[in-house]
Amino acid sequence: MKKKAFIVFLCAILLIGTSTMFVSADDSFDAIPTLQTFYLDGEEVDIEAYNINGNNYVKLRDVGRLVDFGVTYIEEDNSVQIDSEARYIEEGATVPATSDLTKAGYSIFADTMVEMSWPEVKAAADRGAVVLLPTGVIEEHGPHMGIGVDTYGAWLRSKLLKDELESRGIEAIIAPPMYWGVNVFTAAWEGSFVTRESTTTALMTDILNSLASWGFEDVYIVNHHGNRNHSFAMMEGLKIAKEESGINTYYLLNGEDAKAWGVAQEEYILIPEASGVSYGGIVEGSASPYVDPHAGTYETSMMAHYFPNDVDTEMAKKYGDSKITAEGFAKVRGSAEVAMEMAPWGYIGDPSAYDTEYGRSIYEDEASKNADVVVAELNGTYKAPTA
Ligand SMILES: [Zn+2]
Repeated sequence: MKKKAFIVFLCAILLIGTSTMFVSADDSFDAIPTLQTFYLDGEEVDIEAYNINGNNYVKLRDVGRLVDFGVTYIEEDNSVQIDSEARYIEEGATVPATSDLTKAGYSIFADTMVEMSWPEVKAAADRGAVVLLPTGVIEEHGPHMGIGVDTYGAWLRSKLLKDELESRGIEAIIAPPMYWGVNVFTAAWEGSFVTRESTTTALMTDILNSLASWGFEDVYIVNHHGNRNHSFAMMEGLKIAKEESGINTYYLLNGEDAKAWGVAQEEYILIPEASGVSYGGIVEGSASPYVDPHAGTYETSMMAHYFPNDVDTEMAKKYGDSKITAEGFAKVRGSAEVAMEMAPWGYIGDPSAYDTEYGRSIYEDEASKNADVVVAELNGTYKAPTA
């Protein structure tokens, strides 16, 4: 019975007077507001309830909301589905689609653990949900973009990966993004916060140990800041946490970088099939002699598609290729002074060639490849590339 109809029915009862008995119809019954008090785990709760023939009747949705289980009405077959594993979602409420998130005010907390209460966090850990930990930094990204590009990028990668994993039946939750870290060549520009490597290592250790203490077992670090020192500081923290809390934690790393840094065979490294851009600035599939590692086509395209309010595309069109080769970039990335000299605007690559469709397709493709290695790792079939 619909609530409105039920209320009308009750009003009718009250108008009749002292007796609430219907005797004319076969399905007649008394329905009077119950005088009993309801408690949930010892706490008094306010719930609409009616006494009918000596039994209390409450709305299933009210119980679902209080106890937190799923109640869904399926119109097609006129059924009510109770899902003891699911969270309660209000009737008519919808989960925003990925494409809508670009209009959500760019919260790096959207669809992360931050939106969960502690019992929800506990339940997710109990269910064996995997955790995605986005890592970026706050650093300058040229004159045409805000300084949060890497943090937005890390959140985006995690969000797309979460959606991809869930489409494959794996529950994933996103930890609050870690946005402090090590910056080297961008440190010459305003807006690039620099933490010490020891701070980054300690932060990573503490975050992973916290997750482990709540019962999470699998954590995947989803990074969007291609600095070698930053990566090593995080990997150091990961190793300490693994030893201290026994958490299974993995760092998703571009194959070029893993090889160059000699960590491809480490058991905590997961290398997705090639995509995106490496620390060396080489864009997968690009024929250009110049690299595009920082605030160039790659990142500007991502921002223009997913976070358009934080990129000035008209300005981006005026900033052409920095024309820095892989050899040139090797010099730039080690020194803020060299960077200032060779790339005075703070970008390395070609912002003017940004393309929103490229931004979308490269991040979606990457999410699928990241999901492949996470699934392989969970199934125990992951093998590091040997070439
Ligand atoms: Zn960046």
